[in-house]
Amino acid sequence: MKLSTIAATLAGLGTKPTQSLGQNFLHDQNIAKWIVEQAGLKPGEPWVEIGPGLGALTEFAVDISRHGILLEKDDRFAPWLREQFRTVEVVHGDVLDFDPRELFWRGPLPVFGNLPYYVSSQILFQFTAEPSPASRMVFTLQRELAERLCAKPDTSEYGALTVLIGRRWNAKLIKHLPPQIFTPVPKVGSAVVLLTPRVDDRLPECEGALFRELVKRGFSQRRKQLNKMLELDRWPEFAAKLGVPVTARAEDLSLAHWVTLTNLATDAPDDHSAGAQDVNGEMFDVVDDQNRVIDQQPRGVVHRDRLLHRAIHIFVFNKEGELFLQRRSRWKDAHPRRWDSSAAGHVNAGDDYDTTAPRELSEELGVTAPLGFVGEVSACRNTGWEFVKIYRADHSGPFRLPPAEIECGGFFSIAQIQRWVDARPEDFANGFIECWRTLAAAGRLSPGTQAAG
Ligand code: SAM
Repeated sequence: MKLSTIAATLAGLGTKPTQSLGQNFLHDQNIAKWIVEQAGLKPGEPWVEIGPGLGALTEFAVDISRHGILLEKDDRFAPWLREQFRTVEVVHGDVLDFDPRELFWRGPLPVFGNLPYYVSSQILFQFTAEPSPASRMVFTLQRELAERLCAKPDTSEYGALTVLIGRRWNAKLIKHLPPQIFTPVPKVGSAVVLLTPRVDDRLPECEGALFRELVKRGFSQRRKQLNKMLELDRWPEFAAKLGVPVTARAEDLSLAHWVTLTNLATDAPDDHSAGAQDVNGEMFDVVDDQNRVIDQQPRGVVHRDRLLHRAIHIFVFNKEGELFLQRRSRWKDAHPRRWDSSAAGHVNAGDDYDTTAPRELSEELGVTAPLGFVGEVSACRNTGWEFVKIYRADHSGPFRLPPAEIECGGFFSIAQIQRWVDARPEDFANGFIECWRTLAAAGRLSPGTQAAG
């Protein structure tokens, strides 16, 4: 958008740039086009822009795909954007009130924007937090924030933000921008950052909640030694295993160190793939088509020969009536990285459903809670030839998720999941879809549904 067009548009709207909303408008069209190109939009596919303002980036984005979602707070710009870009959806409001979970049904999508600097770190955490609907992100940030995001250990920029976001996202500073390409000219420098998901790279997995806890604790007073900050009795032993001095501070630990430290603190190895695959020796009861036990066979044989067997699924609801979904780890032999029930597992040989359910709840989510039976699904291809009993529990977390089994998880409203299941059933494990449909048909997904008799 040219400088003269910005001035004319603001005059037409009878307004001036609002400093408190971080309004600095980009008037270099080459840079605007370049930023949109970095976001990797695809024709016909949805995208999200944060803080579109007068549409400096939007006009290039709609040329690639018309299916944009614009998140804009300014009362005068939002209706103007609706008029200007008829094919996009304008969400008028504070981006911090926007729920990214509303986006999952559209599939992973690019998110970009020249962010308002006064809230950019909150926006970064909002869209990078697990689980995130973004496929990649391109943001213009205040230069100092961009440098913190992409910092290396042992520098003053390196901090909790670098490590917390770095665990799931590769952050790369791809361009410094001079203040003169914005109007009004900001007092600070700017830089463009590209965030791409870390998928199957060399960084090991670890338990996410404890990782966040340790990093926040460690960096809360960055000049102090971790020995004093972490509240880990075994810190001297862990420091030796990490190869760092016992006097180390938070900024001395690389991202990989923080991950390994989390695994040491949970007595877990860095390589979780072995744990995930070490299941073929398990024995299951084999049942007939009336769900009567007729044999016992190892897991590998049961699955290979499609023998009928038993499993439980647990639906855990929080106080708001939202359902916790887990994303299966990349090492799962069936449905890796798909979304699934809060917890689920096979009934082992000699066990029954009612003893299996609390065990799985504790093993997969690290909690205990009263469980109520709410439904069942007969063995079929979609359940993986399992006779499933479904239980519900009420628990709002936090949960400890074993990394070998579960990549991440999150609570979603029933409406969000229904829309997602309808639009993208391929994102879910088939067994979950069967359980979901069974409970939906029985009216057992609404908040406060009691256990079946
Ligand atoms: N994208 C435009 C450009 O590059 O010219 C404008 C960028 S300007 C730096 C930031 C934009 O974010 C403004 O349009 C401002 O109104 C909007 N904004 C500020 N605070 C916001 C918030 N909390 N939620 C959503 N939009 C916000």
